[in-house]
Amino acid sequence: MSTWTYTVSVRELCEFTAKHGDLDRRFTPSATALEGLQGQQTVAQRRGADYETQLALEDTVGPLRVRGRADGYDPRRRCLEEIKTLRGHPDEIPANRRQLHWAQLQTYGALFCRSRGLEEVALALVYFDVASQNEVELRQVFGAAELDAEFQARCAAFLGWAEQEAQHRAARNAALQQLAFPQGPFRQGQRGLAEAVYRTAVRGRSLLAQAPTGIGKTVGTLFPLLRAMPGPGAAGEITKIAYLTCKGTGRLTALEALGALRRGTAGQALRVQALVAKEQACEHPDKACHGDACPLARGFYDRLPAARAEAVAAGWLDAPAQRRMALRHGICPYYLGQELVRWADVLVGDVHHLFSSQGLLWGLAQALDWQLAVLVDEAHNLLERARDMYSAELDLDALRNAAAQPSAASGLLERLQQASVALLADGEEAQEPYRVLPAAPDDWAQALLAAAGALAEHFHQHPLQLGPLLQFHFMLQRFTRLVDALSDHSLLELHRGSPVGNSSGGSRIAVRNVAPACFLRQRFAALHSSTLFSATLAPPGHAQRLLGLPDDTAWIDVPPAFPPEHLQVQVAHGVSTRYAHRRRSLQQLVGVMTKQFDTHPGNYLAFFSSFEYLDQAADLLALQRPDLPQWRQDRRMSSDARQDFLARFHPQGQGIAFAVLGGVFAEGVDLPGRQLIGAFIATLGLPPVSPQQDQMNARLHKLFGTAAADAELVPALQKVVQAAGRVLRTPQDRGWLWLLDDRYARPDVVALLPPWWGLPGSRGPLMVQCGN
Ligand code: SF4
Repeated sequence: MSTWTYTVSVRELCEFTAKHGDLDRRFTPSATALEGLQGQQTVAQRRGADYETQLALEDTVGPLRVRGRADGYDPRRRCLEEIKTLRGHPDEIPANRRQLHWAQLQTYGALFCRSRGLEEVALALVYFDVASQNEVELRQVFGAAELDAEFQARCAAFLGWAEQEAQHRAARNAALQQLAFPQGPFRQGQRGLAEAVYRTAVRGRSLLAQAPTGIGKTVGTLFPLLRAMPGPGAAGEITKIAYLTCKGTGRLTALEALGALRRGTAGQALRVQALVAKEQACEHPDKACHGDACPLARGFYDRLPAARAEAVAAGWLDAPAQRRMALRHGICPYYLGQELVRWADVLVGDVHHLFSSQGLLWGLAQALDWQLAVLVDEAHNLLERARDMYSAELDLDALRNAAAQPSAASGLLERLQQASVALLADGEEAQEPYRVLPAAPDDWAQALLAAAGALAEHFHQHPLQLGPLLQFHFMLQRFTRLVDALSDHSLLELHRGSPVGNSSGGSRIAVRNVAPACFLRQRFAALHSSTLFSATLAPPGHAQRLLGLPDDTAWIDVPPAFPPEHLQVQVAHGVSTRYAHRRRSLQQLVGVMTKQFDTHPGNYLAFFSSFEYLDQAADLLALQRPDLPQWRQDRRMSSDARQDFLARFHPQGQGIAFAVLGGVFAEGVDLPGRQLIGAFIATLGLPPVSPQQDQMNARLHKLFGTAAADAELVPALQKVVQAAGRVLRTPQDRGWLWLLDDRYARPDVVALLPPWWGLPGSRGPLMVQCGN
C-alpha cells in the first residue's frame, strides 16, 4: 500500500498525458475567462431546465485522486458535454489541441459512468463562438469499460510523476517549517511587517502594508509567507506563492532574496521560477510559434517530459537556467517556462501575469484550483498599471495602414475606418479635440466586431504570417474586448487630431479605464491571500476602493527604521508653484535651493513636475550660480546616461541634480550616506488641468461619491513621498527635505503626508494600525 496520495485535476492529468507533437500557437484569439463563463451560461440556458451544470466528479486510482467539474449533462439526450468557448471556427483549432479536449471529456465520461453506474454515455464537445454565439457539436457514444480503460492508462502514465510531486511537497512543507530567517536578527520594523504578512496568510485575507525603504521588505514579506505555506492556519496549505512587481528591478531583488533563502538547508527544497517575457525568451523572433515555422516548436511536447524532469530536479529556474535547459532539449525556452509554472513553488513575475485579462497565473489558478498567495511589491504603482491593462486605443492612422495591407479583412477594416472617421466628426461638439461618449454607438460597434472577426479569420488562415498587421490584429482584439466590456469603470474617448496630408493626425478612439476594481475584485477574492506593500500606500481606503480589495483588508503602517529627526522637513510658505504662478516664483525657488546648498553643501536632488519646468529652474540657477554644479535628467535617457547621472552622486561630491517627479530617479534609487543629503520638491505632483483629467474626476465621483474627493491628490502625494524617500536610506543618514509650495501647509495635504515628517497639523506621532 502506498504511503502517499496525490490529488490531480482532470485538466492537469490530461495536459500531462495527452499532449504530443508540435507546439502550435496559431494566433487563435481565445475567449477571456468572463466570455468563457458567459458562453457556458448561454449554452446551459439553451438546453432546458433539467440540464445539470458544473458536475463535480471525483474518484481514485491507487494513490491518485482525480477530480474536476464537467460542464454539463443533458439528461434528455443522455449526453455529457464539455463546452469550449472560442472566437472563430473550431475547424481552425490545431489537431493536438482538439485531441486534448477529447481526452478531458473522456476522462469526465469515465468518472461520470463510475459515479452513476452507467454502461455507456454520449459525450459531446461543444465549441461555442463568443462572437457569433454559434455552437458546433462533436458527439460520440462511448462504452463505460472503454472509457475506464483509457482513464486507468492515463493515471498509470501520470503515477510516477505524481509520486515524485507528492514527495517534493512533503519535503518542501517539512523544510519550510524549519526555515530560518536569512538575515540574522530582524531589522527595526521588519518583524512587525513579517508578523502581519504571516497572520494575513494563515487567515487567508488581504493586507495593505506601508513600510519604509530600508527595512528589508522583500525578505520581510517572503519569509513569513514561506513559513505559512504548509498551511498551519484556517486558510489551509498554499499551493504557490507569486511575488509580483510593478517594475523590473524588483524582480532581481526578489530572486536575490529567494537565492539567499535557498542557500539554507531548508530552502533548498523550494522550486523557484522567474516568469520571463516572450520578447526576452524567444530565440526566433522572426518566426511564428508553430512546428512548421520554428525549430524549437517542432516536437515540443515529445521532448518536454525530459526537460521538465530536469527542471524540477534543479529547482532554481531563473531566466538563464530555463534557457539552458530548453536549448539542451531543443525546445522553446518561453513555452518551457509556461509549462514549468505548474510545478514551481514560488513564481517571480510582473503584475500583469496575474491581473491582466489574459494573465497566465490567473488562468492557471482558476483552471487548476490553486491556492495562490500573492505579494505585490511597489504596490502604489498597481493602480496605474491596472488602468493600463484595461485601456486601449484605436489609432486611425494605424487602422488606415492595416486596411491598406492585402488581407481578406481589408474591406471590413476600411469600413471600420469610415465608421470611426464619421464617429469622430459626428455631433455639434465635433470641432472639440476631445470628448467622451456615453456608450459605443451600435453601427460603429458592429463595424468594429466585423473587422476584428475578419482579421482573426485571416490569421487563422495564415498562421505563419508575422509583421505589423499581426500586431494590429492583437491590438484590435484587445480593443474590441474592452469596448465589449464598457461600463462606468471606463471612459470611451474620442481624440480628434488635425489632419495632416493623408493622415488623421493623431485621431484616435480610446477606452480608458478609470477604476480597475471591477476587473480585479473577483481576482483578489479568489486568491488564497494577498499582501500589497510599498513605502507609499496611505490612505488605505484609496487603494482598497480603486483596486477592488476585499472589505476586510487589513492595514499596517510600519514606522521608519531611523529617528524621525534625521530628516528635517521644511515648507517654503511663500512660494506658489501653481501653473499660473510658476514664472513669478522661479526666483524664490532658486533662492531656497542656493541658500540650502550654501548652508549645507553636498549632493541634492530637485524634483519638478515636467521637463519644461525643470529646465526653467535649472537654467535660472545656472545663470545666477555658474559655480554651483548641476546636472539634469533628459527626456530620453539611455541606460548608460542614467548610470552617468547617478554616478555623479559620489560621497565627496556637491551639486544639485534636476529630475522629474514620478520619473526614473524618483523611485528605486538608492543613494545612502553623503551620496545624497537632501531633496527639493516643487509642485504637488498633481496632473495638469485638462479635459481628460476633468472627465476622470467626474467619473470617479460618479462611482465613489465624496470618497473620491482625494482621488487626484493621493497619487500625486504618493509620488512626492516616493521622491522624498531618496534622502534617508539607512538609520545613520541625515538630510533635508524642502517642500516648495505653500499648499504643503493645507490640512488636506498634510493629512496625506507621513506624520513623522512633523508638519504642523499632521496626525501626530506615527501610529501602527492593523485591522487583523
Ligand atoms: S522560440 Fe520564439 S518563435 Fe519559437 S516557439 Fe518559442 S517563442 Fe515561438
